Amino acid sequence: MKCPNCGGKNLGKIGANQYYCWQCFIELTLSEGRLSLSQVEEDGTLTTLDDLFDEVELKAEANGF
Ligand SMILES: [Zn+2]
Repeated sequence: MKCPNCGGKNLGKIGANQYYCWQCFIELTLSEGRLSLSQVEEDGTLTTLDDLFDEVELKAEANGF
C-alpha cells in the first residue's frame, strides 16, 4: 500500500475502510475499489483532495490496496 499523494508507505488503518497517511497527514477512504483522499483541517473538518488527482491515480489497485 502506498499513499497516492506523497507515495509514502507509512499508512495506518483507522477504520474498516479508512487509512491515514502519517507522512502527509491525509485520510484515505477506500470505497468500491477507489480511494478518496481528504485533508484534516485544524478545526477537524475534512477537505476533499480528489479533484487534484486523476481517476487512475485513485484506483485502489494502482496503490496496492
Ligand atoms: Zn501521504
